[in-house]
Amino acid sequence: MDAASGLVLVVEDERAIADLERLYLSRAGFGVEVVAGGDAAMAVIRARRPVAVVLDVGIPGVDGIELCRRLRAEDDWTPVIFVTARDDEIERLVALELGGDDYLTKPFSPRELVTRLKVVLRRAHGVPTRHEVRLGTLVLDQDTRMAALDGRELALTATEFDLLLHLIRSPGRVFTREQLLSSVWGHADYASGRTVDVHIAQLRSKLGPLSGIRTVRGVGYAIDPPSPQRSDAETRAGASR
Ligand code: CA
Repeated sequence: MDAASGLVLVVEDERAIADLERLYLSRAGFGVEVVAGGDAAMAVIRARRPVAVVLDVGIPGVDGIELCRRLRAEDDWTPVIFVTARDDEIERLVALELGGDDYLTKPFSPRELVTRLKVVLRRAHGVPTRHEVRLGTLVLDQDTRMAALDGRELALTATEFDLLLHLIRSPGRVFTREQLLSSVWGHADYASGRTVDVHIAQLRSKLGPLSGIRTVRGVGYAIDPPSPQRSDAETRAGASR
């Protein structure tokens, strides 16, 4: 699938911003539908299955954060790029924790929106390859974008999947936040380090205590192959049966 195709839903109650987004997204080859409120957005997402949603947080009715929460609760992983009104870090972090794939802070350049959207879509659709990537009992299938740990399927956002994939391709290697931002998000502005931290925290909570994701203080993150403690635990579990 060509990344620059398909319907993008813009949820934005400020007419001037919505018009600008529509203009740039259409020029980039996307179909665009604009709605001003959360309830209308939900209806369009269900009826028309957009390839991505550009979601203003401050909208009438169901707000952007609640809308994303509801989508993810329904196991809908349509990529979401949040647009936040101001440089509100708490709002940004909550948005990412809820399964947002990226965010832009107003005012933003519409070109930047198109760039971010293409990166998110490239991630969501993946690069077709024929193999799985494994680390211990953690398996990532790049064809189906499915992740599993110990045979249990993990519900990951496109961003979480790509971040985990990037880490497990080089077990033990320490990546800086900047390296992860530029490889996984496609941009590395200085203020975005927390974006990596939030996604790592999400991965850890989804993978559980044996995630193997290691924080290297002052540097970044690495993932380790399954530890000897794990084998011991398995041995003990086996012996007690
Ligand atoms: Ca607004």
